[in-house]
Amino acid sequence: MRTPFIAANWKMNGTRSEVAALLDGFKSGISTESRQVAVFAPFVFLPAVQDALQGTGIAWGGQNAHTADSGAYTGETSLAMLKEFGCQYVLVGHSERRTLFGETDYIVADKVEAALAAGVTPVLCIGETLQEREQGITGEVCRRQLSTVLDQVGVEGFRKLVVAYEPVWAIGTGKTASPEQAQETHAELRAYLAETDADMAAQLQILYGGSMKAANAAELMAQPDIDGGLVGGASLKVDEFTGICNAAA
Ligand code: PEP
Repeated sequence: MRTPFIAANWKMNGTRSEVAALLDGFKSGISTESRQVAVFAPFVFLPAVQDALQGTGIAWGGQNAHTADSGAYTGETSLAMLKEFGCQYVLVGHSERRTLFGETDYIVADKVEAALAAGVTPVLCIGETLQEREQGITGEVCRRQLSTVLDQVGVEGFRKLVVAYEPVWAIGTGKTASPEQAQETHAELRAYLAETDADMAAQLQILYGGSMKAANAAELMAQPDIDGGLVGGASLKVDEFTGICNAAA
């Protein structure tokens, strides 16, 4: 009942010609008949992404946004600007934003609220560090990250967003959580949200992120509580990303 959703996070990668080649490959290689697909591109490439993907069924979004509509925020990009370039989605709270750019749970919650108000679907990223996993506090950390947002946007807000569970130790490291490890956390988080609203929790798409590739995607996405993937490194290779998308059923 939950549609699989696969998202490419290009991070700060790509040249004009590389982006054009990726988009060509995605357009010809990915079927969106029974799945949702989105590309999170660096801001400067959004016009090219819009030109290429318009009408294909593949959506796109920004990797971050500011909460204000406009103003004196040098270097920032507003949700209104993303919308002008056709973005349906925005990534919020990616672990690189949290660790490298100081985004706290509260900043993340503000951004989710602003995205919902602007009509842009937030993909809320959460996940524990290696140290937190080793301390046995994975569930506690992820529940805190979720509950800060839930307190702010409520069940109705949560009905309109997507969650990506990305164990920080698995991002860009080649270390994928095993399907069982990922499923365990996804199920635990869904059960936690069900304590607040069972229907919202049942329909929420929870994606897995962390070194997903064509070779491990099918097994991860076959888990009952894993509804797709947020893909970094492998989304920069046409064969890998199309393989992941086409493995989602
Ligand atoms: C990510 O950046 O969200 C991610 C999951 O990266 P990678 O697939 O490279 O681990």
